Amino acid sequence: MLMSAMEQGPPVRSAPDDMEAFIAPEEDDRNWHHRAACRSEDPDIFFPEEGSSVIRTQLEETAKAICRRCGVMQECLGWALESGQNYGVWGGLSEDERRALKRRHAGRNRL
Ligand code: SF4
Repeated sequence: MLMSAMEQGPPVRSAPDDMEAFIAPEEDDRNWHHRAACRSEDPDIFFPEEGSSVIRTQLEETAKAICRRCGVMQECLGWALESGQNYGVWGGLSEDERRALKRRHAGRNRL
């Protein structure tokens, strides 16, 4: 992930709140990471290793702002969920938010 330059990407999008939106993407684009808005960003923004909770929260919000203007946010989030990424911001969501999304989806499938 976090490959290179902060680009002025496509229009701002919000993270989907439903896994169905990305589990079966319409487009099978295995090269989506080449279009990542975080390509030239400092990985520490997305994966902070140290710092107070205030600093970590600020970094997380900075990472999410980059994700919101990323043209491949859905692909990234789908990949992060499917591959079990459990640390850092992926697809505009923190690890806690991705876990919550998975729980909601699992709960819905049990009904
Ligand atoms: S959604 Fe965020 S983490 Fe994923 S590729 Fe785009 S900028 Fe990077």
